[in-house]
Amino acid sequence: MKKLFRYLKPYRFPIGFVLILIFLQSLSDLYLPTLLADIVDHGIVLGDTPYIWRIGGLMLLVAAFGAICSVAAGYLSSRVSAGFGMRLRGEMFRHVENFSLQEFDKIGTASLITRTTNDITQVQQVLTMMLRMMISAPMLCIGGILMAVSKDAKLSLIFVAVIPILALAIFTIVSRGMPLFKALQKKLDRLNLVLRESLTGIRVVRSFNRIEHEKRRFGEANRDLTDTATKVNRIMAAMMPVMMLIMNFSSIAIIWFGSIRIDNNHMQVGDLMAFLQYAMQILFSLMMVSMMFVMIPRASASATRINEVLDTVPDISDPAEPKRGDGRRGWLAFENVTFHYPGAEKPALERISFEARPGEVTAIIGGTGSGKSTLVSLIPRFYDVTEGSVRIDGVDVRELSQAELRAKIGYVPQQAVLFSGSIAENIRYGKEDATDEEITHAAEVAQAADFISEMKDGYDSVIAQGGTNVSGGQKQRLSIARALVRHPEIYVFDDSFSALDFKTDAKLRAAMRRETTEATVLIVAQRVSTVMDADRIVVLEDGAIAGMGTHRELMESSQVYREIVASQLAEEEIA
Ligand code: ADP
Ligand code: MG
Repeated sequence: MKKLFRYLKPYRFPIGFVLILIFLQSLSDLYLPTLLADIVDHGIVLGDTPYIWRIGGLMLLVAAFGAICSVAAGYLSSRVSAGFGMRLRGEMFRHVENFSLQEFDKIGTASLITRTTNDITQVQQVLTMMLRMMISAPMLCIGGILMAVSKDAKLSLIFVAVIPILALAIFTIVSRGMPLFKALQKKLDRLNLVLRESLTGIRVVRSFNRIEHEKRRFGEANRDLTDTATKVNRIMAAMMPVMMLIMNFSSIAIIWFGSIRIDNNHMQVGDLMAFLQYAMQILFSLMMVSMMFVMIPRASASATRINEVLDTVPDISDPAEPKRGDGRRGWLAFENVTFHYPGAEKPALERISFEARPGEVTAIIGGTGSGKSTLVSLIPRFYDVTEGSVRIDGVDVRELSQAELRAKIGYVPQQAVLFSGSIAENIRYGKEDATDEEITHAAEVAQAADFISEMKDGYDSVIAQGGTNVSGGQKQRLSIARALVRHPEIYVFDDSFSALDFKTDAKLRAAMRRETTEATVLIVAQRVSTVMDADRIVVLEDGAIAGMGTHRELMESSQVYREIVASQLAEEEIA
């Protein structure tokens, strides 16, 4: 947790202020019982009314002062801890944005969300507690003991008996609760995971009639979390009554022995009353410390989880001295590229070499699982190659800055992703300063203009979260428009035409050819008709190149390609 406190640096001054305020408040707390003793022993016993008024007034002033300090400290400390939470969340988000896909795979999206929200809240809560108690607990405890001893040293011996009992009780309870807190966060992760999966997969859940199954799965995770939480709370619930019991017995002991001492004229009534209050302050401060002991392990479990994220060094980072391209635009080359997914036995790609040049269309075709998506994801450096190199404009992509590299690329993923917002906003995602003309033009080329104009609000129509209110093919065309509006050097279409009918597919590619005369275009596809007129076709099989050339050349030279063509022609003939 200590490591996280470096994010408190900008709050040095408010924190200092809080500590001073709480110091003052604790002073007033310690002073009040003494004044009370004075009123009782001098004012009431001697019947000195003006004295009672004077000291009573002073008591009111001191109490009001303490209250003001307390309110101000509360205000400041909640601002500090809310600000701290905000900075930490921001820092997490920024850091996670730099992760390569490997790190996402490792920690998991659901856990990243819990860590950014719930875990930070835990740390934040402890921080608030700590700010309040760091000063006041030791002051009230030590100050209380000093004051109590000054009132009556012999009676203070009661503490020698009570404090060890209290400590033992606290220790027993806390040591049983601590391990459960760690488990609690893990179970929360699990609950989030199940919830996310069944919400995002709601269509699949419905269509496969797995609602009951999902309910059960959620129910289990929910129950698991609840059981642990109940167990923890049951243990912690014992804390309060045990403490109160010990405190009340202490009061009885103090009054019992105190009244004997008053009888023997060793003590005055007011002093006993003050003594009783100091005893309460001491025991309360010990209780607060024990509450800290309860919360700190939970928060430190959370802090560990947060640090795990913050300490993850993204696999993919910018080189110390990024190189620049050699002035060419859009020259892409794979040189003997081999790639392993971490933990995978077989390489997903093996010794891939080819070149793609501006003004050309290079197509990649192959069965599912042949490594097409993997191949194109190496270009924007979602993953780094295991061997060989991917070069753009003569420079290894690992030597370019990521921002510069990605600015060169217009990438359309296999799974079209849209963001909630208007259609225009979604297209503008590709180029922030795109004019309206550029956006309509991109939409026209992507064959999206027709369906957009049919929508009620045209380009201002709202896309629902996850793009659920447009069809798969419409989604694909919008994400193509998003890439087109950038005018990048290199276009990468990962199976982006799969949901389009043949006619739209052909129209789109014809329009795009006019648009991308100077750019390098990489098209991943399953359909022969999509790749047939490409300048170069790369045939992938099991992660290796099984043939390369134009359609005509491949028909002669590549068995694999002929098989693909034959299977699809047969299908079309039947259809
Ligand atoms: P394609 O796009 O040609 O259908 P992919 O490139 O998506 O194929 O997948 C190629 C191979 O790599 C598959 O065998 C798949 O199991 C594996 N693979 C894909 N993504 C990952 C990943 N994130 N982690 C591990 N293996 C993966
Ligand atoms: Mg794929």
